[in-house]
Amino acid sequence: MFCSKCGNEIDNNAIICPFCGCETENYAPSGQISDDVMKNDSISKAKTFGIISIILGFFLPMIGLIFGIIGKVKAGSAFLDTNDEEVKKVKKLNTIGIIIAIAVGVIGIIYNIVSMIAYKGNTYYF
Ligand SMILES: [Zn+2]
Repeated sequence: MFCSKCGNEIDNNAIICPFCGCETENYAPSGQISDDVMKNDSISKAKTFGIISIILGFFLPMIGLIFGIIGKVKAGSAFLDTNDEEVKKVKKLNTIGIIIAIAVGVIGIIYNIVSMIAYKGNTYYF
């Protein structure tokens, strides 16, 4: 390839032009792409955990809660910018999953207590 700045022919894998010292097209993209891939990968994983936690929250609140917490931890991982809109959305998604799981879990416990009391109240039928 040729340097975009000085026009000299340089190695295709060169990161910096040996003639003028400017960055070649290999320089910024390679670093950025791997960062973006890592970022998108962890966002999509956190998103998946959030969606699973919301779905499971209704049926298996304990497992939904675990997924929601893992998703939230993943969304808060070191190399993700916590001010990023997408990261915020994914965090919200997992928070919703956690809230649903806790709500369904609490309703389940209340339901069990109420049905236990109701069952005790109806024992004279047996
Ligand atoms: Zn150059």
